[in-house]
Amino acid sequence: MSENIKDFLTQISDIPEYSELLHRRGFQVNMRLYKINKKYRKMIKDIIKYLHIAIKTNYGWFSASGMSGHNVGIPLNIICFYKDRWNTGDDGIITMINPKIIEQSKETKVCGSGCGSIADGKTYYNKRPLWILVKYFDIKGIEHTDSFNHTSDIICHELDHNNGIMVTDNPV
Ligand SMILES: [Zn+2]
Repeated sequence: MSENIKDFLTQISDIPEYSELLHRRGFQVNMRLYKINKKYRKMIKDIIKYLHIAIKTNYGWFSASGMSGHNVGIPLNIICFYKDRWNTGDDGIITMINPKIIEQSKETKVCGSGCGSIADGKTYYNKRPLWILVKYFDIKGIEHTDSFNHTSDIICHELDHNNGIMVTDNPV
């Protein structure tokens, strides 16, 4: 499976429309439809399953700590990431549907990260808030508002993807 994802991502990385997509805002998942329509819910859950496979198989290239729909060519506002930053096995992946930062610290930290959609092995540095308060829906369609500190940089990286922003757009 890992090889399949690597092949797929290598192929889509070469398509000009894909790099264009990375700079486009994602679409919101329709949560009303998600709650009432079984087929729509299954389609979204299948996309989430795919993101989980992508993150668990280290994205084909390197150890990924987060993943967004944009990374796999699906411009929907869905992200997932490891609760403890790194792959700790099958558990511990947090999935957020339509995540939105509603509050953040004024204090920032400079964080380095690679990006699977660039896959050049380089580390890019960006300013990230020390903590963020995020509103999102989980897989069950339940709304949450949670604060995150040590994973704020990962969440911001993935949320940026949802907003069409790359790590190369605002380097420190
Ligand atoms: Zn990225």
